[in-house]
Amino acid sequence: MQIHRVQELFKQSPVGQRVSVCGWVRTRRDAKNNFSFLEINDGSCLKNLQIIADGTLENYETEVKKLGTGSSLRVEGVVVASQGKEQAIEIKAERVHVYGFSPEDFPLQKKRHGFDYLRTIAHLRARTNTFGAVTRIRHTLSMAVHDFFHARGFFYVQTPIITANDAEGAGEMFQVTTFDLDKLPRTPEGKVDYAQDFFGRRTSLTVSGQLEGETYAMALGNIYTFGPTFRAENSNTTRHLAEFWMIEPEMAFADLDHNAYIAEEFLKHVIRAVLEQNQEDVHLLDSFVQKGLKESLQNIVAGPFARMTYTDAIEVLEKSGQKFEYPAKWGSSLQTEHERYLTEVHHKRPVILTDYPKEFTAFYMRLNDDKKTVRNMDVLVPQIGEIIGGSQREERYDVLLERMQEAGLKPEDYAFYIDLRKYGTAPHAGFGLGFERLVLLCTGMGNIRDVIPFPRTPGHCEF
Ligand code: ATP
Ligand code: MG
Ligand code: MG
Ligand code: MG
Repeated sequence: MQIHRVQELFKQSPVGQRVSVCGWVRTRRDAKNNFSFLEINDGSCLKNLQIIADGTLENYETEVKKLGTGSSLRVEGVVVASQGKEQAIEIKAERVHVYGFSPEDFPLQKKRHGFDYLRTIAHLRARTNTFGAVTRIRHTLSMAVHDFFHARGFFYVQTPIITANDAEGAGEMFQVTTFDLDKLPRTPEGKVDYAQDFFGRRTSLTVSGQLEGETYAMALGNIYTFGPTFRAENSNTTRHLAEFWMIEPEMAFADLDHNAYIAEEFLKHVIRAVLEQNQEDVHLLDSFVQKGLKESLQNIVAGPFARMTYTDAIEVLEKSGQKFEYPAKWGSSLQTEHERYLTEVHHKRPVILTDYPKEFTAFYMRLNDDKKTVRNMDVLVPQIGEIIGGSQREERYDVLLERMQEAGLKPEDYAFYIDLRKYGTAPHAGFGLGFERLVLLCTGMGNIRDVIPFPRTPGHCEF
């Protein structure tokens, strides 16, 4: 028999029809006169479906009345119009098949649990309303990412996870090796002999697919990546993970203005998708997690993002009269507190900040004529701060080499990248958006560990 999904049943309200639904019990309530009400959830939507079970079922006493929260079952029965106000339909059960009982020590009984605790049971937390909602929103966002780029003629390119370069030059890489760490082979000079390792060299997990993505943009025009990235950064913040997903479009013959335009359109598109497709889930999160979530998302899509240069932003911060933990000054990188001030207090909108000092930006960002700043942008959003980092890329062969030298990078490690400037170079631009920061924004959750199924952070890799 076909299994019906609860979301579809609520949509169609097929009163009188015989259906079969599967799911997990949220609550069981026994009434007098051999009646029980089961609330079941099948994950397709937030709402529970009410099942009316009674003594005519052959296993009513032996099984149905023993169903605890978390038990799994299949119900066959008839859809009836509901007496209750909340839901239009319920199921009058004709048969209840129990797949698995769930004993009383099932941790997700009725009471609400804190997110810290739920993180310790990441294998079960998907069964809560909050994590169901977050997961469905994450799904909507994933699909909307592909819709957006596909509709604009971008090609989806899969860049490698194991790489031999450090795109960010920040040295936050996880090494990949097949060596037995207790018996590392050494060169005659006593150094670890990576030539004997699997790839014949030192390799790591990617921190960004950008450099490889650029090679495809310089052939296909517009491309994007959407894949996992890894950073061994020891920052125990609510905005950083060791394993996260990144979306990285790269566009040939594009400048920073076009890059900023695409970034803004992109963010609005994916947020609109959530507002349209996840109304119930957004409502739940708005009620229990972040008051005003829906309004703040509507506000983001409603008008243009603010734009300003880094230099202007520093001036605003200096004149703000605000007591920051780290005072903002020209030449130092912005902290989350500064980013949040600009978006939440000064502009009350997302902000696209451009032209940062070259000192703390990556070697591939295009040097401006002032030779002090680069043609880059960070997109900052309320509550979070930086959600996107992007730039016009340095397309000039000589300038790129100079910048690499300044950054202490060896050109031979980036031969493929330099070749792109040697053979038919062209202006191009792109950005990287941390997918989990986007999920944070769209769910109102406060901690990035709670918007990815299995978070990896310093000291935590439980599964
Ligand atoms: P931050 O300043 O927040 O550390 P970043 O400037 O180091 O970020 P980029 O190298 O610009 O990050 O990466 C592009 C995007 O990837 C960021 O704008 C952010 O959305 C996301 N991102 C970066 N690091 C992490 C991380 N450790 N966990 C989750 N997302 C991240
Ligand atoms: Mg960082
Ligand atoms: Mg940054
Ligand atoms: Mg950045």
